[in-house]
Amino acid sequence: MNQPLGTLARTHTCGALTAADVGKDVVLLGWVHRVRDLGSLVFIDIRDRHGITQVVVRDNPTLVAAAERLRAEYVIAVLGRVEARSAETINPKVSTGEIEVCASAIRQLNDAKTPPFSIADESPVSEDTRLKYRYLDLRRSRMQQNMILRHRVTMEVRKYFDENGFLEIETPMLAKSTPEGARDYLVPSRVHPGEFYALPQSPQIFKQILMISGLDRYFQIVKCFRDEDLRADRQPEFTQVDLEISFANEDIVFSTIEPLMERLMALIGQKAPRPFLRMPYAEAIAKYGSDKPDLRCGMEISDLSEAFRESDFGVFRSAIESGGEVRGFVVPGAARYSRRELDELVEQAKQLGAGGLLWARAPEGTIQSPALKAAGETALRRALELSKAGPADLLLMAAGKHEPTSKLLGQLRLILARRENLLDPSKFAFLWVVDFPMFDWVEDEKRFEFMHHPFTSPLESDAGLLETDQGRARARAYDLVLNGSEIAGGSIRIHDQALQRLIFKLLQISDEEAKMRFGFFLEALEYGTPPHGGIAIGLDRAVAILCGENSIREVIAFPKTAQAVDLMADAPSTVSPRQLRELHLKPNA
Ligand code: ASP
Repeated sequence: MNQPLGTLARTHTCGALTAADVGKDVVLLGWVHRVRDLGSLVFIDIRDRHGITQVVVRDNPTLVAAAERLRAEYVIAVLGRVEARSAETINPKVSTGEIEVCASAIRQLNDAKTPPFSIADESPVSEDTRLKYRYLDLRRSRMQQNMILRHRVTMEVRKYFDENGFLEIETPMLAKSTPEGARDYLVPSRVHPGEFYALPQSPQIFKQILMISGLDRYFQIVKCFRDEDLRADRQPEFTQVDLEISFANEDIVFSTIEPLMERLMALIGQKAPRPFLRMPYAEAIAKYGSDKPDLRCGMEISDLSEAFRESDFGVFRSAIESGGEVRGFVVPGAARYSRRELDELVEQAKQLGAGGLLWARAPEGTIQSPALKAAGETALRRALELSKAGPADLLLMAAGKHEPTSKLLGQLRLILARRENLLDPSKFAFLWVVDFPMFDWVEDEKRFEFMHHPFTSPLESDAGLLETDQGRARARAYDLVLNGSEIAGGSIRIHDQALQRLIFKLLQISDEEAKMRFGFFLEALEYGTPPHGGIAIGLDRAVAILCGENSIREVIAFPKTAQAVDLMADAPSTVSPRQLRELHLKPNA
């Protein structure tokens, strides 16, 4: 039978009691984690967010009978006295392992249905079930640890920015579209028929306006909304640590973020040696085939064309002659792969879009490669030499245009690094990628699209290219990469109105459209805009890395599935015809 809590208050959490508390009378409140019934003796583990305490019930048949009726996840109050455990029963793995509480009374505050999965043993459960019963999933230790670390991170962020002269300022959720390259979530206005607010893709325009307003340094831990095509590890709403700095340049932004990262890494007992490496985008693509390279595993991609220039190997020669390159990288220790494994690798490369993939190795000095005849031993030996492949290593090569070939090899590099366990989870490699291209060419629409967002400054040295060779113009945009994930991105902004108009023009945004979409911002720019710049940290991803989780869903209390569905609350869902009418929307329109 459930009993009221009454005036009972806990004296300690379930993680607090130690040998120093022996002899104290205590009240513990929490959930039944486990019950072990030994007949005349019953052990109950009582759990709350802070820990687990062992409760022992003995010598009192009524109490023992009451304890035997308890089931996992019942909510109970335990009154009792703290006793020292005998030396052989001490559990060094839990903070309360030196003691147990000998119960004098137990109150069942609430019973519980049998949960669809056990909270106590953390055996794997399908993600859909976890998300449907998120309240139970969040009771499990792993999720509680993740929530606690996320809280620590956000508190540290707030403390850090406060100490460094930043103001936390909220910006609207019901706003106007911000161009971050995704689709907007729209909210229909009831009072303005046919008009819509857009949920912010980021507070970009507002934070720039705050700089125009003279607020100097802004930050915000803020939800952003992007209606993007479904991708495994994206969330339609996610959290950014967003900031903007007046009179900023790259060094000022980087030297603001690096000490913050150092402090966040300290939360998990890790270091973040400063200054972080900086690498131009072009170099990242060339060496790692990615604009967010994982630097934990070496395996640089290099140009091996020189080895094949004289050879008769048709595929490689024609690639070189038509302006392409032979590029390759070495997989350390992979000379041992069987023929079947190598064939599978070639198949995998083809699935990624490669015309072909050539491997070569020289385990005992003798060269092996499917192209040994066609390319000749001299060329292959030279390629192995150039790439510094040792006898235990495997060289992988592909030919074609510089960028697509590098990107393809970059994908294979990561697949192989994972397979060979070369991405040490206890290593943390930070990197600034800088000098991104200003624009991306959209082949289907035969036009340029901004790479970061349209408020990003071009590099001063490339200003001349804007009207002559846009594809080559570089931006003052930067990303912070940690272990192959982009954890922050930002730029130095355009503060000059004429340049901003020119960029809109280059992006084929007409004056009319610019006025309609950003008119208020263009006008604000005319009233004394300080040079400024900023960045936004993807909080979910950063916390996931700190928690050692692969998916950001593991660090979000109530995430959506990859299909953008909230399985617990059952959202999205239909609404009543009346609600639709009020919003001036037609059902099933
Ligand atoms: N608003 C940008 C983003 O969400 C970040 C920035 O440029 O500060 O990616």
